[in-house]
Amino acid sequence: MSETLAGRLAAAMPGLRGRLLANEPLAPFTWLRVGGPAEALFTPADTDDLAYFLKNLPAEIPVTTIGLASNMIIRDGGVRGVVIRFSPKGFGQIAVEDGYRIRAGAFAADRKVAMAAADAGIGGLEFLFGIPGSIGGALRMNAGTRSNTNPEIEGETRERFVAAKAVTRRGEIITLAPQDMAFVYRGCGVPADMIFTEALLQGFSRAPDEVRAINARVQEHRERDQETKVRTAGSTFKNPPGHSSWRLIRDSGGLDLRVGQAEMSRKHANFLIAHEGASAHDIETLGEEIIALVKAKTGVTLEWEVKRVGVKA
Ligand SMILES: Cc1cc2nc3c(=O)[nH]c(=O)nc-3n(C[C@H](O)[C@H](O)[C@H](O)COP(=O)(O)OP(=O)(O)OC[C@H]3O[C@@H](n4cnc5c(N)ncnc54)[C@H](O)[C@@H]3O)c2cc1C
Repeated sequence: MSETLAGRLAAAMPGLRGRLLANEPLAPFTWLRVGGPAEALFTPADTDDLAYFLKNLPAEIPVTTIGLASNMIIRDGGVRGVVIRFSPKGFGQIAVEDGYRIRAGAFAADRKVAMAAADAGIGGLEFLFGIPGSIGGALRMNAGTRSNTNPEIEGETRERFVAAKAVTRRGEIITLAPQDMAFVYRGCGVPADMIFTEALLQGFSRAPDEVRAINARVQEHRERDQETKVRTAGSTFKNPPGHSSWRLIRDSGGLDLRVGQAEMSRKHANFLIAHEGASAHDIETLGEEIIALVKAKTGVTLEWEVKRVGVKA
């Protein structure tokens, strides 16, 4: 182990309380179930442990954070440097606070936050019920849902955001206010190496049964319009201004493309499906071919929403 990056880091940081593993497979943690290992995988015990680790981590070692990896392609060659993945024990807490607020750890599942909001009679967070990521991922991606038919299931993280805690690459623990987040459509302006550890979200009074009924409608909407039973990473591309990616892909003939075991969904043409045996290479190549096809047919350039990390095999 001392020959590995994880071993060297563990030896250099005697105060570390979290778990450091060498060459740990990441595919099982991801929705697409593809990709190579992390050179070192660190699971911090808590925020102070994460801060200690980052403070003592040499600046040249790259750090990649993964949440529930529902919006991510890990490449087949794996991820160099350190991958940080939280545990539910350290970062999965959900607490209801006065004033219809919820404080959630960065590894709390969005769906559980929506369920806790229902139990507490807090409305406005129902959109989270249908997003299969973590709160950390929701902050980074400004996760949200739009519906042409039912406004009650709509919402975006930025609308409910009060504050977040984060740890900088240098190991400082900071608090972020709305203006620090610089939220945009499916993203935020916070430096890529800053790691969120907690969010405070604001809802409003709504009867628990009403919130549960809306959560159920969020689920119905998902099952009707999206792929929920196969390996996907949600919307593959952002919607270009004035366009829907799914329509551009369908009308350009993108549903006829297949690379290895990867193809676009016939139910939702912006969802990419990884069939059994698909590699990250199949998936990413299909995405690149879709971008080229849509550009050639329509002149519109699609931009990846899914994050691609790691090295090609
Ligand atoms: C079936 C399906 C449906 C989906 N539907 C939607 C939808 O309706 N709306 C929507 O917005 N998204 C949707 N998604 C995409 C995805 O669920 C969201 O983007 C989600 O917010 C990602 O959270 P995650 O924890 O999985 O993040 P990951 O995929 O693990 O990571 C995404 C990004 O967030 C960063 N990140 C994760 N955790 C942290 C942290 N603690 N601190 C700093 N950065 C962090 C990662 O580094 C990466 O850049 C869907 C995905 C699937 C598979």
